[in-house]
Amino acid sequence: MNDWINRWRQKFERFMIGRYGVDPLARFLNICMIVLLIANFLFRSHLLYWLALLILCCSYFRMFSKNIPARFQENERYLRLRFKAGECLKRWRFQGEQALKYHIYRCPGCGQKIRIPRGRGKVSIRCPKCHNEFIRRS
Ligand SMILES: [Zn+2]
Repeated sequence: MNDWINRWRQKFERFMIGRYGVDPLARFLNICMIVLLIANFLFRSHLLYWLALLILCCSYFRMFSKNIPARFQENERYLRLRFKAGECLKRWRFQGEQALKYHIYRCPGCGQKIRIPRGRGKVSIRCPKCHNEFIRRS
């Protein structure tokens, strides 16, 4: 039995020589496919099913592809996008936290943005830029 598995593994390894294999984009595609299949299970939509199948085909096509530079570039593009998305998410979260803790006011004199902690009632604010003073509810 073990022999049989080893033989198949060797065959597969020989088959994969010169082929691209699995990369982070492949793993991402697989996760997408699983999510779509679960969604399909919940919503019974043909569209989701076909989309999952399409992603599966893409994933296998990439894995067995012999055009390694092209696949490598796709993966690079994916990694760059993922990085940008992560940065966006971090920024949104930061802005959300800031919005909960602080109120942003604009100085009526010069338009300078001023950050004031929330929940302190009426406060007198002095603009750090033009020294104009104004009263706001925080
Ligand atoms: Zn000002």
